[in-house]
Amino acid sequence: MNEKMFGDFTRREFLNVAKGTAVALAVGGLANTSKAAMEHVLPPLPYPANALEPVISANTISFHYGKHHKAYVDNLNKLIARTELAEMPLEKIIVATSGKTDKVAIFNNAAQAWNHGFYWHCLKPNGGGEPTAVLKQMIEASFGTVEACRNELATAAASQFGSGWVWLVLAGGKLRAVKTGNADNPMTQGMKPLLTIDVWEHAYYLDYQNRRGDYIKGVIEKLINWSFAAENLGKS
Ligand code: FE
Repeated sequence: MNEKMFGDFTRREFLNVAKGTAVALAVGGLANTSKAAMEHVLPPLPYPANALEPVISANTISFHYGKHHKAYVDNLNKLIARTELAEMPLEKIIVATSGKTDKVAIFNNAAQAWNHGFYWHCLKPNGGGEPTAVLKQMIEASFGTVEACRNELATAAASQFGSGWVWLVLAGGKLRAVKTGNADNPMTQGMKPLLTIDVWEHAYYLDYQNRRGDYIKGVIEKLINWSFAAENLGKS
């Protein structure tokens, strides 16, 4: 996973816990520090809102990050307050609630919070181009060529019916391009996400209307952050 992002996330959560602990100590005990102390926070965008223009506009980013992503984080905090899940890091909540019919709302908001935090790092200004050496070798071993990998990601995006995500994952020692519906994340199927592209309409509709293929093409050619994928691969 992205150590920078989730490292930051953990530090922020720690600060919240620490803050709760300090308050509890001030009132004379630690007994009630736990349940409401750990709150998930909206992680900062790794670049300014206009940094991905012209492929993704600042307007899209402002709604996507400031409204959609924020709502998933806020909803998650409300849904898990004073439950045993309030103590868990995001990834554990996702795995613990996946497939549980009585936890669908929690899973959806937790997974969407994670997916979006991951997605922002999968893009960067002046991205695209060629992957770095080790990742490139693995892509060639798994797909034949980098171009074939790009094509499989684009095909997965085009064929995802309705909302969802396209992923480059590590599964069984090989790289694969997979798609998931709605909030689903391949980590619940034992696969390790290396990259993702959001294919919900809110990711592209303001800029491209119904032309999802144009958005995907722009992302893959100009924004995709292969270095981030390589970092994630390095932690496998
Ligand atoms: Fe989204």
